[in-house]
Amino acid sequence: MVKSLPPRSEISIEETWNLESLMASPEAFDAALEELDQETAAYAEKFQGQITDAQSALEALEAYLAIAEKLVAPGTFASLSYSTDQTDAKAQMRTGKYSAFSAKIGSRLAFVTSELLELPEDTLKQAMSESKEFEGYLKKLLRKKPHQLHPAAEKALASYSSVFQAPYELYNTTKMVDMDFPDFEAGGKSYPLSYVSFEGDWEAETDTELRRAAFKAFSDKLRDYQHTTAKTYDMQLQTEKTTADLRGYEDIFEYLLFNQEVDRTLYDRQIDLIQTELAPHMRKYARLLQKSHGLDKMTFADLKISLDPEYDPEITVEESKQYINEALGIMGTDYLNMVERSYNERWIDFAQNKGKSTGAFCASPYGDHPYILISWTGRMNEVFVLAHELGHAGHFYHANREQNLFNARPSLYFIEAPSTMNEMLVANHLLKNSEDPKFKRWVISSIVARTYYHNFVTHLLEAAYQREVYKKIDAGENVNAGVLNALKRGVLEEFWGDDVEVTEGAELTWMRQPHYYMGLYPYTYSAGLTISTQVSKRILSEGQPAVDEWIDVLNAGGTKTPVELSKMAGVDITTEQPLRDTIAYIGELIDELERLTEEIEQQN
Ligand SMILES: [Zn+2]
Repeated sequence: MVKSLPPRSEISIEETWNLESLMASPEAFDAALEELDQETAAYAEKFQGQITDAQSALEALEAYLAIAEKLVAPGTFASLSYSTDQTDAKAQMRTGKYSAFSAKIGSRLAFVTSELLELPEDTLKQAMSESKEFEGYLKKLLRKKPHQLHPAAEKALASYSSVFQAPYELYNTTKMVDMDFPDFEAGGKSYPLSYVSFEGDWEAETDTELRRAAFKAFSDKLRDYQHTTAKTYDMQLQTEKTTADLRGYEDIFEYLLFNQEVDRTLYDRQIDLIQTELAPHMRKYARLLQKSHGLDKMTFADLKISLDPEYDPEITVEESKQYINEALGIMGTDYLNMVERSYNERWIDFAQNKGKSTGAFCASPYGDHPYILISWTGRMNEVFVLAHELGHAGHFYHANREQNLFNARPSLYFIEAPSTMNEMLVANHLLKNSEDPKFKRWVISSIVARTYYHNFVTHLLEAAYQREVYKKIDAGENVNAGVLNALKRGVLEEFWGDDVEVTEGAELTWMRQPHYYMGLYPYTYSAGLTISTQVSKRILSEGQPAVDEWIDVLNAGGTKTPVELSKMAGVDITTEQPLRDTIAYIGELIDELERLTEEIEQQN
């Protein structure tokens, strides 16, 4: 039963992460900013106006890299300490302080890229040929040359950077600080509700009356804030549009895809093909859920229930460790060491408390170890969530070790491949070790209901909606709550057809997703999972060589484009084939669920 969440101050220390290796104390944070302030001033004094040839360019970059590395710890400390309790006024002030500080530093150091890009192309190429270390950085910089503005404009824009982050911060403040959910009533009783408990528990509640009542209460509260949230979002969109125009991109899509190093065809394919070809499989899955739960009708509020709730047993954090170790064992001892340390050295924040960021994420600060945020509700399902976040951790644990800060981070397009890969490894491990049809059905429904649903359905429908939003913005229009609700509803209805009633309130789903403040992010989930599905199949059939190639991919970090990284792992994403194969695989899983359900019903 869902409980009301305690304040952060009542959480026991073992359930929390230890941020001390980032910053020993809030005072150390202030001191670090003070020191960086002086150091960057000295840097500007020394190098501004002095980047004139390959030699001076490389010297400036060397010192610039050292400063960039030092900025990581305080920045991560500010955001992580805030993410576990957004009602903590001190933590809130600290993120504000850091974001103003980083704007000041960004403006102070904006001359570096400006001066580098003012050098003749030959000089930059000479610098590239003389330095393995900065070759990748300079190559990416050179790509941006046509979109670089006058140095004075770059400096001014950099000093406004914290203002550009304002929409995202406003979104979070509305959602996590202002929005307070009252208890809701069902069957004459009263139940507590919060953002975390709705997404972590109520959405999957097996009692239909309770679940639908929770959905209604949740939606009613969202609706109270729809206009503020829409206005905030529109501000984000208009900023992106202005930036795209100012920097001379063809359209907003070209601008947003530029840093992802993929072209429009890869983006559009991911949305179009899934929207049309996956929908029939998922509708079949919805019908199966409806039938096995004996529901009068299937509504949007029912889609997150599990096929067999009895087989979603409770699991402790300690028990999760064993599953994770066994499933990820194939990745080798180095990888497992990291997993071991993440539990033992408190890299993970498991607590459920008021004000904590929703969902789960992994932060991987350069020069330190990864940190994972999760709200552990004790459902077996969370083994998949944790494996997912450990996938991000494993990725940057390798990349940060093998690459310098500028080269460590790959394109967003590839970010969700290592994480979803681990979910596949968990599923494959569990399937291999059981012949019990009920257990098998639980595992398969977990991958369908969680891994594929989350990455291929939830995020796909976000991506499809987002594309429509950006088309409007690109045409010079604005959006408000009415427009966004209509777009979201349209996308949901198109995908689910007559099989799922798109309940009143479902159109507000766009309000739930912080990804909209991160550019074209939602579609990358299915892109990443397409790659990981194909690679995990290779690991099943080929074993060690496929694992070794995957580790090489993790080590490569951001030194290659998504197309190149995928190729290293034996997947050619320039064609439709990997995506078609993945959709067909999801179809097979759903057929298998139907078959197992029949088998189980016959046994009873
Ligand atoms: Zn992820």
